[in-house]
Amino acid sequence: MDSIHRSKIKALLTMEPGAEVLAKGWVRTKRGNKQVKFIALNDGSTINNIQVVANAELFSEDLLKKVTTGASLSVKGTLVASPGSGQAVEIQASEIEVLGECDPMRFPLQKKDTTLEFLRSVAHLRLRTNTFGAVLRIRNAMAFAIHKFFNEKGFVYLHTPLITESDAEGAGDMFQVTTMDLKNIPLDKKGNVDFSKDFFGKKTSLTVSGQLEGELGATAVGEIYTFGPTFRAENSNTPRHLAEFWMIEPEMAFYDLEDNMELAEEFVKYLVSYALDNCMDDLRFLNDKYDEGLIERMQGVIGIPFQRVTYTQAVEILEKAVADGVKFEYPVHWGTDFQSEHERYLVEKYFGKPVILIDFPKDIKAFYMKQNEDGRTVRGMDVLFPKIGEIIGGSEREASLEKLEARIDELGMSRRNLEWYIDTRRYGSVPHSGFGLGFERLLLFVTGMANIRDVIPFPRTPKNAEF
Ligand code: ATP
Ligand code: MN
Repeated sequence: MDSIHRSKIKALLTMEPGAEVLAKGWVRTKRGNKQVKFIALNDGSTINNIQVVANAELFSEDLLKKVTTGASLSVKGTLVASPGSGQAVEIQASEIEVLGECDPMRFPLQKKDTTLEFLRSVAHLRLRTNTFGAVLRIRNAMAFAIHKFFNEKGFVYLHTPLITESDAEGAGDMFQVTTMDLKNIPLDKKGNVDFSKDFFGKKTSLTVSGQLEGELGATAVGEIYTFGPTFRAENSNTPRHLAEFWMIEPEMAFYDLEDNMELAEEFVKYLVSYALDNCMDDLRFLNDKYDEGLIERMQGVIGIPFQRVTYTQAVEILEKAVADGVKFEYPVHWGTDFQSEHERYLVEKYFGKPVILIDFPKDIKAFYMKQNEDGRTVRGMDVLFPKIGEIIGGSEREASLEKLEARIDELGMSRRNLEWYIDTRRYGSVPHSGFGLGFERLLLFVTGMANIRDVIPFPRTPKNAEF
């Protein structure tokens, strides 16, 4: 067997008949009769299986019995034109070795269709399904495309820390990091926790965003992006929130909000196009199985300019909708943060295209956003997508030292822990902007999956950190 190099199934399926080949993979299904068995073999290189034809004369009954769904095989044979529909070639097997058996009585992923919910309970094995194979390949393609996009633009990939003393969003939903003995927490004289005894000598947490450090990078080398995990202890059990998710955060010196919006729009269009150009087999599978509108929706967003609208205009549209009888679960008026139902109304019902919302009330946005002249709004931007709602959140940053410090004070935040950040405004401050794209939100859009738990291999949500 060893004289022939193993070929990936993706490559085999495009080869001309005639060659002697070696394939390895896992059995998806086996069917046939006493004389001949048809084995569908998959190795993860493509959604498509290769059909292995095993003549019963050549193989012992004992061996063929071990060829069950989930078992792993090494198969040598001749690639021949396939008389069956659905594939150009198949393998006429001459040697089959069962590398690992798979007990059909116990293996949870049998042929019968399993629900996504059930698959979450066996997340260590669900990666073996067609669905998760497709999702993982698309996820990989998107990660690659993100690096490609920024690399071609000359952005520097900046690694920002995961353990931090600061709360970038000011939302307070952070996971604390400590090595203190929870049964014996050191206290100071006043009875407060004495963090000087903790590992870092300070209270630390997992980061909710790499932005603040990203700004240090941008004001040094011009244009950077981060791409890493972020952690939010928000107790929101929604289909769009994870406790651990990946975020891409570009940060650019000399960009105003206009430049920022242009980059964000170009970026997401590039990624959606990349998926359409490189992942069509997987997209077709997901389109047919889960979301008939997937490919059309993807083609839709790359073809048209996104709608830009101010928060204030959007409130007027939503208030008018309510007056006209549209029912929302949450109230909406100037000053409220939009819920995804409002975002989706704007995108799907009112404009019929992706929307970039700008100029939000300052009280619903983070301290670092650039303040507008009106004294009540800031230069934030949210990109809203069909079916998802917010996919990107960003802003032009406040570049004025005075205004930034005043805002920090106004919010009752401690300046002391942020001096390093404020230094960017003390020494050669420049207009700059950036945004955060939630990687899994993007994946919801380009896979058509409805639940964010199904676009990350091992989801972390409240009460769930298994696997
Ligand atoms: P949302 O309003 O949807 O909760 P946010 O306003 O808290 O989001 P930002 O702080 O602006 O989000 O974060 C930037 C991006 O990160 C969001 O646009 C979204 O794509 C993504 N994101 C935020 N929170 C989560 C989460 N818990 N799980 C997955 N992605 C998230
Ligand atoms: Mn936001």
